[in-house]
Amino acid sequence: MDVSVFEYLYGKDISHDGISSFDGYSWKHSLWTLYNSFFSYLEERLVILISGVLSYFVTSFLAYYLIVFFLKSNRGFIHHIRSCRRVLLITAHPDDECMFFGPVILQLIKESCNVYLLCLSQGNYDGKGALRKDELWKSCNILGIPESNIFLCRNSQLSDDPKMRWKKSVLSPIILSHIEIFQCDTVVTFDQSGVSGHINHRAIFFSMCDIIDSNKLPSYCKVYFLETVNLLRKYSSFADTLLSFILSSCWYSVNFQESQRLKEAMKAHKSQFVWFRKLYLLFSRYVFINTLRASDSLDLCFDFED
Ligand SMILES: [Zn+2]
Repeated sequence: MDVSVFEYLYGKDISHDGISSFDGYSWKHSLWTLYNSFFSYLEERLVILISGVLSYFVTSFLAYYLIVFFLKSNRGFIHHIRSCRRVLLITAHPDDECMFFGPVILQLIKESCNVYLLCLSQGNYDGKGALRKDELWKSCNILGIPESNIFLCRNSQLSDDPKMRWKKSVLSPIILSHIEIFQCDTVVTFDQSGVSGHINHRAIFFSMCDIIDSNKLPSYCKVYFLETVNLLRKYSSFADTLLSFILSSCWYSVNFQESQRLKEAMKAHKSQFVWFRKLYLLFSRYVFINTLRASDSLDLCFDFED
């Protein structure tokens, strides 16, 4: 290489005996080269990242439309609970039904299933129990659950309290009596993480596990748990449809019109419709899709402490 070109590129003063030395100009030039290299590397990676995210969203959007509008017309592709006619949905608080279980409720009702709602507390944490009861009735009316199918527990041992552990000795008899009285062939409720991690949500799961583990569940009844997904998936709206479709064997999805209905049901819970719930509705995948897991596909080895 020509010595002058070498000096230009590397900022080195090449002496005739081959010994090089840096001068002030070379240091500045090297730092400038390093700075440029770093940012061009960052730019390349950023372009790849943005392209990847955009591709994922476009693919998910197409998958969402494909699943909701095309596959639904082909009954063979529907991954719903087979032959359920009387479904007991068990929640912990008024508003759980539309915040988390909306798609499964709307689809079950569309399939002429008899949906019963057992809400285990009044949601009296802020002292608004009576108001929240009215809001629950309004929400269920929008969702299509008949008034006669709504059961709201008023039990001092089942208070809406993130610090109160609901005992299975209190929960299990209430749940079992509702399954037996209404001859429910299916139960749908929270899984181990309870979507939001609320201790009251999780208590229902542990109580259901206890009922199953102690062989108290009627033979005609099957239990399904609403899957909790990680935070990124939870707030990726309809974009989670593709992953849900691939990873889950039982899913319920709704179209944009139906998701608007779920948002109306949430608005019926006026006392709870604060800014972070509005944000939740904007980004939550539970407004578009529910994925369920059957209890017999889970390894229910838990420590059922009371
Ligand atoms: Zn809740």
